[in-house]
Amino acid sequence: MILKIYDTLLKTYGYQDWWPVSTTADPFLEISLGAILTQNTNWKNVEKALQNLQTKKVLNWKTLQKINISILQELIKPAGFYKRKSTTIKNFVKTINPQKKENITRQTLLNIKGIGKETADSILLYGLEKPIFVVDTYTKRLFSRLGLTKKDIKYDELQKLIQDKIPKNTHIYQEYHALIVKHAKEHCKKKPICTKCPLESLCNKNVII
Ligand code: SF4
Repeated sequence: MILKIYDTLLKTYGYQDWWPVSTTADPFLEISLGAILTQNTNWKNVEKALQNLQTKKVLNWKTLQKINISILQELIKPAGFYKRKSTTIKNFVKTINPQKKENITRQTLLNIKGIGKETADSILLYGLEKPIFVVDTYTKRLFSRLGLTKKDIKYDELQKLIQDKIPKNTHIYQEYHALIVKHAKEHCKKKPICTKCPLESLCNKNVII
């Protein structure tokens, strides 16, 4: 069933080719900052913040380590929660050694104040290409509506459930997460649009708005 959902979403929406990066100079850094900045905001706001960092030539490890936090806050303001996020970015660039990316584990990231499971897993999956599934609100919503899980399933429980059912493959995990986000924006919104939903025949429609 979990693979069938993936196949159906892929046939419907095609490859999403995440994570979007605007520069190839340091995709790991850009993806990591994007994962931090996207907490509680939409991607358009993240793009504005990343654009500010690029324009001011701040999107590199050394400058981010040294930059005054109030200047950083001003640059990332479009992404919201800028005080908290600037502290997290500072903690991140001080903790992580980009020359030793192979040593970065989930726990390394979770030990950084401000980085939770979803952010850590996004960095691991998209920034470091490690096969770990990213769970978010959209994933929980979709799987509970489909009738596969409880609405209040825990992050790790849902992650394990999905990882146990599909091949351990970075590319599939990357695409699947991106397809769920796409589907949540097209059909399985807070107030779902079930008409013509590609998953309708598989869905229990356990919808509580
Ligand atoms: S049928 Fe409705 S509730 Fe089910 S996945 Fe589609 S949009 Fe969501």
